[in-house]
Amino acid sequence: MRTPIVAGNWKMNLGRREALELGRAIAEGAPTQGVTAIVAPVALHLAALGEALASAPVLLASQNAHWAESGAYTGELAGPMLREVGVRYVILGHSERRQYFGESDEGVNRKTRAMLAQGLRPIVCFGESLEEREAGQTQAKVEFQVRAALAGVGAEDAKDVVLAYEPIWAIGTGKTASPEQAQEVHGFLRGVLEDLYDRATAQAMPILYGGSVKPSNFAELIGQPDIDGGLVGGASLKAESFLELCRIAV
Ligand code: PEP
Repeated sequence: MRTPIVAGNWKMNLGRREALELGRAIAEGAPTQGVTAIVAPVALHLAALGEALASAPVLLASQNAHWAESGAYTGELAGPMLREVGVRYVILGHSERRQYFGESDEGVNRKTRAMLAQGLRPIVCFGESLEEREAGQTQAKVEFQVRAALAGVGAEDAKDVVLAYEPIWAIGTGKTASPEQAQEVHGFLRGVLEDLYDRATAQAMPILYGGSVKPSNFAELIGQPDIDGGLVGGASLKAESFLELCRIAV
């Protein structure tokens, strides 16, 4: 019922030529149905990739956006500008942005509501640190972050939100949550969404897993009932591994 999603977060990598090459290679090989393939290059390359991918089965995401539609916010990018160049999704609240750029739960909520109002689909990231996991606080942490991100978002709009559970200890570390560990959190979150909205809405909302996803561990992860795809860093930087993830997801 939920179409699987494979979203590649390229982070601050790839010059223009490399980004276009990777985008084109993914566009050529991506399955045309059964999976939503998304790539998130640096903002500088969004317009070029928007053109290159215009008729490809690959959608474009921004790694961030400001909540305002325009204005005196030096260095920021507005949703309508992103839409204009073909962006459909916006990654919000990635742990790197929370850690290095002070992104707060309030800011993520403000941006989530703004993106929805501006016709963009937020990919909202959240997850616990190793310390929090070891202290038994995983569920409390993710529930808090998800409720905070979705505050004021109604059931109709919530269906356009993609959630991405990314345990911080698994991002870029080579350590992946086991399929059971990930499913435990995803299943728990499905219940939180049902409590927040209703069963149909909770069932419609995709929940991605992120944290050292690669072709060798993805089949088992996506085989779990509440894992609807992956938000992928390292393995999205090579066409071969990203396309393999897309094929596994179909
Ligand atoms: C990410 O950046 O969201 C991520 C999960 O990275 P990696 O796949 O490299 O762990």
